[in-house]
Amino acid sequence: GSSSSATQSRGLATAGGPQEERLVVVVRVRPSAETNDHCIDVISEKSLLFDDGGKSRPRQYSYDYVFKETDTQEKVYKKTTAPLVRDVLNGYNAAVFAYGATGSGKTHTMLGPCRKKTTSTANSERGATAAYDVDANNNESGLMVRAIEEIFHNIENSPNNSSKVSISYLEIYNELIRDLLNPGGPLELREDHRGQRITVAGLSEITTTSRQEVVSLLLKGNKARTMEPTAANQTSSRSHALLSITVQTKTPLGTKQGRLFLTDLAGSERAKKTKNRGKRLQEGAHINRSLLALGNCINALSGGARYVNYRDSKLTRLLKEALSGKCKTVMIAHVAPEGKHRDETKNTLVYADRANSISTRLQNSVYLDEVKDFPTKHYQNLVSELREEV
Ligand code: ADP
Ligand code: MG
Repeated sequence: GSSSSATQSRGLATAGGPQEERLVVVVRVRPSAETNDHCIDVISEKSLLFDDGGKSRPRQYSYDYVFKETDTQEKVYKKTTAPLVRDVLNGYNAAVFAYGATGSGKTHTMLGPCRKKTTSTANSERGATAAYDVDANNNESGLMVRAIEEIFHNIENSPNNSSKVSISYLEIYNELIRDLLNPGGPLELREDHRGQRITVAGLSEITTTSRQEVVSLLLKGNKARTMEPTAANQTSSRSHALLSITVQTKTPLGTKQGRLFLTDLAGSERAKKTKNRGKRLQEGAHINRSLLALGNCINALSGGARYVNYRDSKLTRLLKEALSGKCKTVMIAHVAPEGKHRDETKNTLVYADRANSISTRLQNSVYLDEVKDFPTKHYQNLVSELREEV
């Protein structure tokens, strides 16, 4: 009940209303055991100093929020995702994506601390070395788990519990889409004739009324992610993972639908540094293609371009809705504070700085087509009833 906890519970994006909203860009500095050689110094809630190793004076960068090393998972959730969850329950779309080099803390933020589990695939051809497990009822739970918890909490406590929750979870690996809830062959993207609505053909969309079930699906899905060791980090995940949570609520005016996209992006480091060769180099190229395309979109949007090319990668096609202003978007850029990660940290700070100037406009709640004509039908029925009476 202190004033600091009141501040913590206030989110960065305000809930509701079709007002002009910028893309919210925050930076999270992960903790480090190393104490002497740091390139990052958080100087306020909105700014940090970056030291490029003595080449020039430390440079100041400012964002919507800067999370320092000691900031908790709960604080990150409350500031970034909680306001979006409220919007989603009100029928808006929203997206959070975690950006940063491998080892900068993306998966920690999105899922929570992962216990490493050795698996029998250790010496398989694929070179996969580990699967992950995460404690669902943990203080350290990440944004995905917290968002699910809050959505179910709200629905269970709403007076007329008339909402339906469904989730899908996919990964993009080498520009191929895989269903993480039902792993199998690659899935294709489909567009409607106007190229407006993008769907993944055959992707499982699991409807559930139990939060335990969602959390366990999520953990199972995460274990299905493609894991490849690289020189930069033994446990690096080379894939982008997209979780989508859809909430449909019956109202007197029809069914309203809100969707939350939560994205754990693949490492943003350059192929050169990770000494990628062969298959790994190709992966690096694809990852860069997706992140490069994302960067190009962000650049175009931040410069107010009238045409933005989302078509260059699967990632940007899937995130088009999130980026093009049809929903509120929060980007969490992750950085490692150690001097040895200076180059990657700077790349991420610059990328986030560009993203910082994008403006997005919220659209009104979306009502589903099949129920759009509800009021008309209602009045038609009323008219026939009155006719009969007459
Ligand atoms: P990424 O997904 O970006 O490759 P991880 O989330 O796997 O990075 O983080 C790398 C390591 O640092 C992991 O061991 C993780 O548990 C730890 N870590 C990252 N961020 C934090 C944090 N905020 N608090 C505690 N440990 C963290
Ligand atoms: Mg990760």
